[in-house]
Amino acid sequence: MRKEPVKVREQKASERAANFDEVVFGFSEEEVLKEASRCLQCKNPVCISGCPVEIDIKKFIYQIVQKDYKSAYFTIKEKNNFPSICGRVCPAEYQCRKTCVLTKKGSPFATKAAIDIHFLERFIGDYGIKNNLEVLSGKDKELRVFKVAVVGSGPAGLCAAGELARVGIKVVVFESLHKSGGVLRYGIPPFRLPRDILDFEIDYLKKLGVEIIPNFIIGKTETLDELFEEGYSAIFLGLGAGIPSFLGVDGESLCNVYSANEFLTRVNLMSAYKFPEFQTPVNIGKNIIVIGGGNTAIDAARVAIRMQNMNGITPNTSIFYRRTEVEMPARRLEIGHAKEEGVNFEFLVQPTGFTGDEDGYVGKMKSLRCCLGEPDSSGRRRPVSTEGSDFEVDCDLAVIAVGLGANQLLTKVTPGLKTDKYGDVVVNPETMETSIKGVFAGGDIVGGEGTVIEAMGMAKKAAKGIIEYLLQK
Ligand code: FAD
Ligand code: SF4
Repeated sequence: MRKEPVKVREQKASERAANFDEVVFGFSEEEVLKEASRCLQCKNPVCISGCPVEIDIKKFIYQIVQKDYKSAYFTIKEKNNFPSICGRVCPAEYQCRKTCVLTKKGSPFATKAAIDIHFLERFIGDYGIKNNLEVLSGKDKELRVFKVAVVGSGPAGLCAAGELARVGIKVVVFESLHKSGGVLRYGIPPFRLPRDILDFEIDYLKKLGVEIIPNFIIGKTETLDELFEEGYSAIFLGLGAGIPSFLGVDGESLCNVYSANEFLTRVNLMSAYKFPEFQTPVNIGKNIIVIGGGNTAIDAARVAIRMQNMNGITPNTSIFYRRTEVEMPARRLEIGHAKEEGVNFEFLVQPTGFTGDEDGYVGKMKSLRCCLGEPDSSGRRRPVSTEGSDFEVDCDLAVIAVGLGANQLLTKVTPGLKTDKYGDVVVNPETMETSIKGVFAGGDIVGGEGTVIEAMGMAKKAAKGIIEYLLQK
């Protein structure tokens, strides 16, 4: 008889909508053993092919069943430097869980029966943190003479740094912000990824010998040529896709119309949610509208509703999306969480402009109703606005979350660094080397907006490319 999946415990929606504490509690030991025991230990473990870094899922689940958590930790660490992070943020329903044989074929959302691989990974990652387990680095004599610069401290940069430091290479990470972590720090809110988890994973890299230099913009503070002149033998670029897209409608520059990146950065990185402890408040309105349908929109809305509750404002936060819920690219889990927390959803709506008061603050949003037409190049049905369907809603804070593009601060000032029409860096897919010899790249700056584990997968490949390049030197 098939065993029932174990349901993960969560903070009550009514309570969590007014705090930034972690929403999902994760599995207890009893629960983790129960869930792991559902794994069929397939002869052909197809789940592994669903993981962008190919963790030996079957093996680590077996080790969990044997209660050998330490070995399970090392099995995961062979492929993934940050299990506690990925166990929290990986969209597993589109990756390993989607390919698990227990998933009903056909729909990416029919993964309820699949093993909750990421929650097992999270348990093991946290076990490693609690028990201070560390992977010893195999210092390679030949490689110890080299110094590599990593630009950007998001998951791509941090992963590349870890891979290189593990073999004894001296690694220095340059980060333009005052804190490291990239989107993990400024984008994903602490109620999805607690900062002590992120700090632990970054501290682990520091123990491996990685040096992180904040407030340092490569392309402004120093150029790539200058890094080479300073003795770096190779450079990894993990610049991310941090430049927000806008709607291009009237009134978008009114006060209190934010890009999601700015809004999330103010709250998550600058700790606006801890005001007055942190003197970096953010304006919070009575009627908040978030525009978009991806993870960023959901994060912004969940942050907004918490800020309203915590500031004694009756919550009224809505997501406006131009397609329907089916086409929303955001994770189903997060959409469900947002609904439970009180976020309203308005589908098939196309914003057409904002109007404001005499002081320049937004007050209303104008929109058109849409219906779905033929599929576009993304395969999703195109929204078609309906003539004469104009309407207006009150809006004293708007957050635009309609996509992110390549961060071109460095690429624009680096002659010879080839980019494509989107501004993404072009690489040799085998080695991740760019058009400049000795300069490698990975993460969102190469593939466009992706996932944490995809960025790490590219960074691992690039680290391999760098090591081969250095050995040839
Ligand atoms: P980033 O994380 O963007 O890091 C790039 C870093 O480089 C930044 O710190 C930046 O300051 C720095 N930098 C840029 N230029 C320079 C320069 N010239 N000099 C020095 N430093 C520089 N993915 C998931 O898998 N699960 C999720 O739940 C999820 N949620 C998300 C929520 C939000 C709000 C957003 C925006 C993204 C989310 N993603 C999620 C996507 C995921 O976070 C990204 O795919 C991933 O962070 C990309 O990693 P990266 O290292 O390439 O770039
Ligand atoms: Fe276990 Fe699913 Fe992987 Fe089979 S496919 S080994 S059941 S996790």
